[in-house]
Amino acid sequence: MKQIKALALFSGGLDSILACRTVAAQGIRVCALKFVTPFFGHELLADEERFQKDTQLKYGIEAELVDLSKGYIELLRKPAHGFGKNFNPCIDCKIFMLRRARELMEERGASFLITGEVRGQRPMSQQFDTLQLIEKKAGCHNMLLRPLSAKLLPPTLPEQQGWIDRERLHGFAGRGRKGQLALARELGITDFPAPAGGCVLTDPLLAARIERFYAGMFIIGPEGITVDDIRLLLIGRHFRLPGGHWLVLGRNEKENSRIAELRKVDDCLLFMPERSGPMALLRRADAGNLELAALAAGLVVRYGQKNEGSLPLPGDVQIEYTDGAEMLYGVTPLHDDVFQEWLV
Ligand code: SF4
Repeated sequence: MKQIKALALFSGGLDSILACRTVAAQGIRVCALKFVTPFFGHELLADEERFQKDTQLKYGIEAELVDLSKGYIELLRKPAHGFGKNFNPCIDCKIFMLRRARELMEERGASFLITGEVRGQRPMSQQFDTLQLIEKKAGCHNMLLRPLSAKLLPPTLPEQQGWIDRERLHGFAGRGRKGQLALARELGITDFPAPAGGCVLTDPLLAARIERFYAGMFIIGPEGITVDDIRLLLIGRHFRLPGGHWLVLGRNEKENSRIAELRKVDDCLLFMPERSGPMALLRRADAGNLELAALAAGLVVRYGQKNEGSLPLPGDVQIEYTDGAEMLYGVTPLHDDVFQEWLV
């Protein structure tokens, strides 16, 4: 008999691990889809093979990455069901992921879907009515099994068809995690990520920055937001220079390297060749705007290595444009009073 296959929405958190394992324990072949966007999980794309091996090794789960970046950047402009506490559009996010999973079902030969949602666990997206709404809007009616709360929810296709024994599913509800932890122990799962985390849209500071970016804080405008814009927003110190220009400064060597990697052709880079300090990036900068370059250079020196006293001494700053470079000599550090309001 052909083995029944299911696709799981896999966040990598304990609940999604348990959901996959619960269903796999009933002889179903589970393929876990880890959706990524620049707001969560994007770094995994750098080495998908490793992610797959780790997931298999640690949890015995077959997994793959699905990049949702493009549509997700659009979704954040105006999610139909609004935002949670921060800039997290959880209901629309889940509908979006489920729709994609639903589309992939045929291609992957899967007969139903799984999520690790637990009824009543989160105020916004996991109340009974909301679970039903998400399922309906995603076009997954009856084909979405939530194994951790299945006993508290109406039977779904895999249970009705006898592919899954409902009695061997669970009835977890609410925020407590006792049941899940006991099940993890039973399945020998000890190494799993802490609950929550991983989605920057729920991080108060980063989410506020992203929200302001979407609201048009910078002169470059929110119309053509790219994946790299978002990745840049998540590192370093950000400034909105006069005129709305966007400047990012690295706070350490790692961020400096990331900033240099994320540079695009119309960006310019600033740094002090003779002294350690931040790498700065002026996004989509006007190369001929000397006033702007001078302000950016003043910030680079301000956050550069200090010699004596509370402010660094004047320093030389190199500005690299796509088609050339120039040096500004003896740049005076900007005084804090000048730029405090520019910090984003
Ligand atoms: S926390 Fe982030 S990833 Fe999770 S549902 Fe909400 S928006 Fe989506």
